[in-house]
Amino acid sequence: MTEHPLLDSLNPEQREAVSAPVGHVLVLAGAGSGKTRVLVHRVAWLIGELNVKPDSILQVTFTNRAAREMRERTAGLLQGRYPPSWLGTFHSVCYRLLRSHPNAAGLESGFRILDADAQKQLVRQLLRDGQHNFSDKLEPAAGVGRISAWKDFGRAPEDVDAHLESETEAEWARLYRIYNDTCRANSWIDFGDMLSLTRDMLAGNEALLERYREQFWHILVDEFQDVNSVQYELIRLLSGLESAGVMAVGDDDQSIYSWRGASADNMMRFHEEFPDVNLVRLERNYRSTQQILNVANRLASCNRSRIGKTLTAEHSGGEAVEYVVVRDERTEAAEVVTQIKRWCSGGGSLEDVAVLYRNNVLSRSIEFALQGAGIPYIVYGGARFFERASVRDVMAYVLLAENPHDDLALRRAAMRPRRGIGERSLEKLSEQARARGVSLWQALQEAELSGRGRQGAQELVEIIRHLGALRERRPAPSALVEEALQVSGLLELYEDDEGAQEHFVELIGCADGVAEGFTDAEQDEDAVTRFLAATALDTGDQGEGEVRERIKLMTLHSAKGLEFPLVLLTALEEGILPSERSLNASEDALEEERRLLYVGITRAMRQLVLLRCQARMLYGHTSRRAGSRFVAELSGPEIQARTPQDRFDFTDSPAGGGEGNDYGLKLGDTVRHRKFGVGEVVRLEGSGEGLRVHVNFRNAGTRILMASLARLELQ
Ligand code: ATP
Ligand code: MG
Repeated sequence: MTEHPLLDSLNPEQREAVSAPVGHVLVLAGAGSGKTRVLVHRVAWLIGELNVKPDSILQVTFTNRAAREMRERTAGLLQGRYPPSWLGTFHSVCYRLLRSHPNAAGLESGFRILDADAQKQLVRQLLRDGQHNFSDKLEPAAGVGRISAWKDFGRAPEDVDAHLESETEAEWARLYRIYNDTCRANSWIDFGDMLSLTRDMLAGNEALLERYREQFWHILVDEFQDVNSVQYELIRLLSGLESAGVMAVGDDDQSIYSWRGASADNMMRFHEEFPDVNLVRLERNYRSTQQILNVANRLASCNRSRIGKTLTAEHSGGEAVEYVVVRDERTEAAEVVTQIKRWCSGGGSLEDVAVLYRNNVLSRSIEFALQGAGIPYIVYGGARFFERASVRDVMAYVLLAENPHDDLALRRAAMRPRRGIGERSLEKLSEQARARGVSLWQALQEAELSGRGRQGAQELVEIIRHLGALRERRPAPSALVEEALQVSGLLELYEDDEGAQEHFVELIGCADGVAEGFTDAEQDEDAVTRFLAATALDTGDQGEGEVRERIKLMTLHSAKGLEFPLVLLTALEEGILPSERSLNASEDALEEERRLLYVGITRAMRQLVLLRCQARMLYGHTSRRAGSRFVAELSGPEIQARTPQDRFDFTDSPAGGGEGNDYGLKLGDTVRHRKFGVGEVVRLEGSGEGLRVHVNFRNAGTRILMASLARLELQ
């Protein structure tokens, strides 16, 4: 083999893959073995050594972050030459193809993309549209889920009919058809369409397909284990099996998207279907210590459906993997803070640290503790709890209760919800306030507005005075938050937004705990002041600001492909990891949860800490938790377990008091709601403060309400 600086930093197997003759290559290897490194070096090799034009290379991965990192790494190796412009996620590549040829795909040139919110809105609208005659028992969120799942598995509306299992399924199928027709008629596409329309466009247009086959000589795909059938077909089409050489890299042990239609079998299919595939295996792990890798390997070996690989660590030894069992989510968060402080006092940087968890909702308690400890952080793939619009809206009122002269909070409250005070009047009021050297609150109280604006301003003044008076009585933070929600009109504003409703319940559920946990404030300050200090809110529009060192919070799914010196993996509990849903499903679903944990563990480079609680509050409801079954599977000499002395004294105690459905609501009950009037309870979901009530109102139709917020009166 020729010596080449680009190949110097690679081991023999990696070198073989990078400098392989033009053709198909499958790199099948475990986590941290340098698959992505090989892919990036291959691109640099093609451009730098074989003089391949960057535009004839298509380089694909799954997340925007991975794509960004790939672009940087490729550019770094190219020493001034350009990386391929066709480098991105499957979605971005398809979007670009559709944009270039909208008509070939049956779209207008100004076609619009429906994001998740718009998609839900459309589904809700179709379900409620009288002409379609849908039962009002069908929920929009479930409809979106059903439609997306069919799309992920590559099933068009006309393919669905044959497989219907129930009447409800038939209704979903009908909705799917109407949804698709509406989208096509308006030239709207959702994320699923982006892939399937591109595939259909290329499959149905020989000239166009030929053009791209001539353009792309090399196609490289990272994380191939997560390719679904539509993506596979796209690659197959574009490569024409032989017009382009395809390099696919992947690890079946990290396949975590089968619920979105992905299948690691596509790696084997690639191997069989494409001619003369050069199979390369990489067996050295350059990322983690041997201790961490042993734990990961032991866990992975419990999966039955796997190809099986050997993986040894380049970095021998390392520190023990810690397994910490704590009392509840607050002690867990405190432990996370302690670990981070210890890491930093040992010379580590905040940038090195990632906290990983199964679901986004689990970030909330960690965020509070970090906020309280003044540790900067960023939440990947989701807004920080206190930056969510709904939460900031309520907090604006809470801040005004504390201090009505907070102009930023007042500006926000004046607009959310809208109460007839226009942006222009608000601007004018601000100017007057500035000119007179008074606060916006003072200006608002004396404002001379006309018409609806006047009424709105009066209403706002009354709300703030009311909350201010309540605040004087030193209430618990949760009581103040709840009152703010009730009187501000925000509950109605977010009535259809289940996510926001859940955040409200979370906020009420945790407000008192946050105040208690915040120790930096003066002890004689009361709970509301401590709560506000802990959450340290800025309700104004925050710019990105200077990039500070901060730790990263993300779900296990979004951590794929990344690596961090210190990984703190929380909530290793039955019902979380493995998820509740997987427990009631097949062995395959359980294996996918195991792989998800494997992905999490193999993100760690130097140190790994696993945590779990004995009891945890979720959605305002505390329940006892059992440790994840996976802990027993990964246990071994590398694990150092630590359990606190104080055992959890378990009493089922939802934050608002009472257990289960203590709102006294049963199916068939007649209830009265302040705004919607009288109706009948038709369904109950969830428990404790997370209890959701479906009420069929005589005049307002069926509404789903959070029992803890709706203040329903039994009739
Ligand atoms: P994952 O399965 O998690 O996606 P991967 O197989 O893609 O992992 P990479 O991210 O490419 O692995 O590499 C893991 C780490 O090991 C990176 O920090 C990479 O730079 C380093 N690495 C890989 N190969 C070598 C090598 N030959 N010499 C030194 N470091 C290497
Ligand atoms: Mg990788």
